[in-house]
Parts: sequence; structure tokens; C-alpha cells
Amino acid sequence: MNVSVIGAGLAGSEAAWQLARRGIQVTLYEMKPQKRTPAHVTDDFAELCCSNSLRSDQLENAVGLLKEELRRLGSLIMACADATRVEAGGALAVDRHGFSAMVTEKIKSCPNITVVPGEVTELPEGEVLVASGPLTSDALADRLQALLGRDSALHFYDAAAPLIAADSVDMDFAWMGSRYGKGTADYANCPMTQAEYDDFWQALTTAEEAPVHGFEDQKVFEGCMPVEVMARRGHDTLLYGPLKPRGLDDPRTGRWPYAVVQLRRDNADGSVYNLVGFQTHLKFPEQKRVFSMIPALKNAEFLRYGVMHRNTFLDSPRLLDRYYRMKKEPRISFAGQMTGVEGYVESCASGYLAAVELSRRLRALPPLDFPRQTAIGALGLYISDESVVRFQPMNVNFGIMPPLDRRVKGKRDKNTELSQRSLKIVDKMREEVLR
Ligand SMILES: Cc1cc2nc3c(=O)[nH]c(=O)nc-3n(C[C@H](O)[C@H](O)[C@H](O)COP(=O)(O)OP(=O)(O)OC[C@H]3O[C@@H](n4cnc5c(N)ncnc54)[C@H](O)[C@@H]3O)c2cc1C
Repeated sequence: MNVSVIGAGLAGSEAAWQLARRGIQVTLYEMKPQKRTPAHVTDDFAELCCSNSLRSDQLENAVGLLKEELRRLGSLIMACADATRVEAGGALAVDRHGFSAMVTEKIKSCPNITVVPGEVTELPEGEVLVASGPLTSDALADRLQALLGRDSALHFYDAAAPLIAADSVDMDFAWMGSRYGKGTADYANCPMTQAEYDDFWQALTTAEEAPVHGFEDQKVFEGCMPVEVMARRGHDTLLYGPLKPRGLDDPRTGRWPYAVVQLRRDNADGSVYNLVGFQTHLKFPEQKRVFSMIPALKNAEFLRYGVMHRNTFLDSPRLLDRYYRMKKEPRISFAGQMTGVEGYVESCASGYLAAVELSRRLRALPPLDFPRQTAIGALGLYISDESVVRFQPMNVNFGIMPPLDRRVKGKRDKNTELSQRSLKIVDKMREEVLR
């Protein structure tokens, strides 16, 4: 039994390790050191190409839960991160060189893994797991585009509006409805008075933008204009664009408000909302500051901030199943950022699940049911959820997991309880998962 894994990043290294420790022979292709993406600078595997932080390590945070699940299930990336951690308060930050060197050493000395350096430009025969990341080389991206069959199946840029938890919208300042009452009342409409809009517009046009990486050309911004750029065109531009109030009768006044921000459901159960037309390149704290000026969003929980950057990722809800495997061609699985999970830990988690499932299929074991109550399961179910229409990459968050069946006061206590619920399930599954 042999599996070809393409890319020794966070996802590919984890996947190769999990396959190998279950007795599968792995050929791991990595184009470094012959060729590097514009963001990678070392020759080691699992390179952290930006921050050295793997974000929160607290159970009241969904990424803290995801880490703990991975730890309990024998993740290589988490073991190396814990072994090379540096002080960072409640976060897990690592000595980036020590971390990558340790992953590289573990992989290279694993008897079941053969590392083949060089760029992959054609998909190998047999079982393949593609984990070539957000900056997949052009030749492989072309090959994948041909495999996937339509232009919209593979995106090269992310232009995403922020996502917020539906239960954090203050409905005293919003109402459900659609423009001119057409169709069903699917949008949460968040009105603003003229004075509120004036302040918002002032803040939006002067907020600080994120830096543009050298390899990110202007294409990303031409295709899809950031809301702050549109706002700078004039005080009223947004009132004729994403904030137009036409056809939106506020039930409290019976009139169209001065401006309206619309929130659209982002998943089938309506737990996540997308700010319509708010693709943005502002720094994350600036997004929180400025968008929280919208009265209904003053306490909004941002599940994911808006981003505009280079990012090769699949339209996964149409292409992949919950194990990151191609529905049309199950010999091919994907993992990492290119599946639409966002972040170091999320990429590792997708590599973990894809590999465990693949190894089980090859050994004729039944599929594992990682439920939505677990962070690992929720991520796989989110990226393969066909009800998600305009798919954009997603960090792990509690909004994609089912709520508790009883009311718990306080966000911190509620989240900790959600984590404990998940860890109980993971502990029960552990023996079977490690098989
Ligand atoms: C500029 C930038 C900054 C980022 N900053 C952060 C951050 O601060 N925090 C965060 O959580 N996430 C960040 N991300 C997202 C980050 O990319 C992911 O979190 C994580 O690295 C994804 O892991 P991966 O395994 O999917 O891809 P990668 O870690 O990128 O691994 C992919 C591997 O595939 C190799 N490869 C590519 N094409 C081929 C080919 N044709 N043949 C063989 N090998 C190939 C690459 O060399 C690379 O080693 C950033 C992304 C970018 C582009």
C-alpha cells in the first residue's frame, strides 16, 4: 500500500506521518530546495511562512480546542510545536526554526516515508494526497484545474468579507427581510441613521489597511473592490452599492433607512452570517473597530475577518467529501489551506483527518464518524457542506459546531463547555482513531 503525498507543509507533513504510522508506505514529494514559493525561505518542512504563533491555546477558543483534539490523537505537528514552544501568554508560539527542523528530522528518519525532492507537475498514479498549499506552483495548479474540470473549481485569490456569529447580532437594531419583500426573509438588515453612517464612512475611509506582500499583484484588488476603496470614491458611493436602502422597509418606522448593511446566511443552519459586499483589506483590529460601529454589530463576534490575498483553494463544497476526498475521483484527496481551511492548525487538522481516513480505506476499515461536535469533524463537514454557496476559506470556530442543548451564561463558560463536550467524544474515539 503506497500513497503519494504532494507538499511537505503543515498538512502534508502531518498526513505523511499519520499514514506512515499506520503502516502505509508514503512517497512525499516536496519541491524545496529546488524551487520555493514566494513566501517560503528555508529548506525545512512545515515552514511557518509568517507568524510563529499557532494562536490561542485556551479551551475557550475553538483553535485551542482543535489543538487539544490533535494532541490527544497523536498529531506530529502538535508534538513538535509543544516541544519547541516559546512563552506567548495564552497562545502557542514556537521557535520557528526549531519547530520546522524537528518536523523535518522526524519525517526524514521515518522508515515508511521516502522523500522525493522536486516540483510535481503531473499527478502520480494510484492513491494521491495533494497538500501543496496556498501558493501551489503554477504547473501543478494548471494540472489541478484540468482535473477539476471548470474554472470556478479552483480559486487563486481570496476576496472574502468577514463572517460573524449569527447569535451575536443585536436584533434590537436589525430585522429579517429581503429587498421589496421578495422571496423569503433571508437577510438580517442592519440600518444606520445619517449621523451613524457619516461616522462610519469617516472611520472606514481612514482605517489602516493590511500590507500587500511583494508577490501579490493588483489583480486581486481589481477583480473585487474592497469596501474601503469603494467608500473613498465619495461619501454616497456605498449608498448606491452594498449599503443601499432601496426596498428595505424598516418595520419600526415603515420607511427605508438612510443606509442598510445586509447580512446573508453563510451555512444551512444559519449560525454564520456574511457581511454582504464587505470584502476588505483592512487590518483585523481595524475591521473590528469600524464594522462594530454598525449598531446591530456593536457586540458582533467575528468568526473570520475579511481578507484579500493570494490563495489557491478549491470550491470544496462542490468537490470534496467530509474526509477531503474528491467525490468524482476518490483516489485523490486534498489537505491543507487549499481545501479552504484557513491557518496553520486547521491545515494540520485537515491533513490528519484526510490521512487517517485514507489509511482506513486502504486497510478496509469502516470510515470514522468525527461528528460536528468535534472541531476536527466540524471543519471537514463545513468545507464539504453543499449548502455553502459562495465558499470562502474558514478558520475553525464554534459557529460551525452545534450549540449546547442547555443555556450557559457567558461566552467563556459556554465555549469551555463546548470544548469539554468535544473532548469527551474524542477520548471515546481515540483508540479506534489511533488504529
Ligand atoms: C504569505 C502568507 C502568510 C501566511 N501567514 C499565516 C499566519 O501567520 N498564520 C497562519 O495560521 N497561516 C498563515 N498563512 C496561511 C498558511 O499558508 C497556512 O496556514 C499553512 O501554511 C498552510 O499549510 P499547507 O500545508 O496547506 O501549505 P504550506 O505550508 O504552504 O505547504 C505546501 C508545501 O507544498 C510545496 N509545494 C507547492 N507546490 C508544489 C509542487 N508542485 N510540488 C511539490 N511541492 C510543492 C511547498 O513548497 C510547501 O512546502 C499564510 C499564508 C501565506 C501565503
